[in-house]
Amino acid sequence: MDKLQQMKASLKTLGLTHTREALEEILHDAQIKDLSYSEFLADIAGGEIKYRQDKATEKRVKEAGFPYPKYLSDFDTGFCQSLTAKQVRQLAELTWIDGLYNLILAGPPGVGKTHLAIALGYHACENGYKVSFTTMKSLIRTLRTWEIDKKSGVKMRRILASDLLLIDEVGYLPISAEDGNMFFQLISDLEEKTSIVITTNKGFEQWTEFLGDAALATAILDRLSFRCDKIPMQGKSYRLENHKSFFDEAEKIDTCTETERTEN
Ligand code: ADP
Ligand code: MG
Repeated sequence: MDKLQQMKASLKTLGLTHTREALEEILHDAQIKDLSYSEFLADIAGGEIKYRQDKATEKRVKEAGFPYPKYLSDFDTGFCQSLTAKQVRQLAELTWIDGLYNLILAGPPGVGKTHLAIALGYHACENGYKVSFTTMKSLIRTLRTWEIDKKSGVKMRRILASDLLLIDEVGYLPISAEDGNMFFQLISDLEEKTSIVITTNKGFEQWTEFLGDAALATAILDRLSFRCDKIPMQGKSYRLENHKSFFDEAEKIDTCTETERTEN
């Protein structure tokens, strides 16, 4: 076994995966930059820590179950009339999760409720928080089946162990009394343990309507609202304002190719 292979075997035994995988590159880099012993060691330790942190973030993002990625950096506060850039920066500090605050993002379609919820969840994953994303429809299915279905059981345990639970599309579908009670039970179980972000198209006064029970709606809202910011996301639909047409796009591509053809 040559020296490089021996080093790789030792690094494997020590569990220094990143250093083992990038060994040639690390050694080459150290030579080129003429690093001192301490700089070299600091680079190795730093590289290993970053690799592990990235892996852990990747795992948290995967387990969170986001339907697609969305980022705070893409959230246009100029378009969103309900939150200032400063408020978005304050939310990005994530201290509201430590303080167990809930957020209710309420408003019509297309105003960025889901975008903001996913982006905050993603950012929380990057900062070491355990996050779960679910739609209300999927949550009800999980609550109904977690005791008998393995996949639902995993999801439920993940939710109960989360620092942050994102529940998208609350109020879109009416909920039976039994499902409503299970939802209330979950909210109670998470109290003092987990921050909850809810996106909804319903105002508080309409919760009775989709839950079909005034007492239940009051009990759920009472628990959610204790430490809570309700953000009324008003304004125009981003989708409608930034509407894209396939035919317009195709037309552009055709015109481009046409010009290229004439030029050639
Ligand atoms: P809602 O959940 O309120 O119906 P979404 O969050 O799904 O709306 O937003 C619809 C689309 O518009 C998404 O592609 C989203 O990324 C985009 N969008 C909405 N608001 C913004 C914003 N303020 N900045 C950037 N993109 C936005
Ligand atoms: Mg949405």
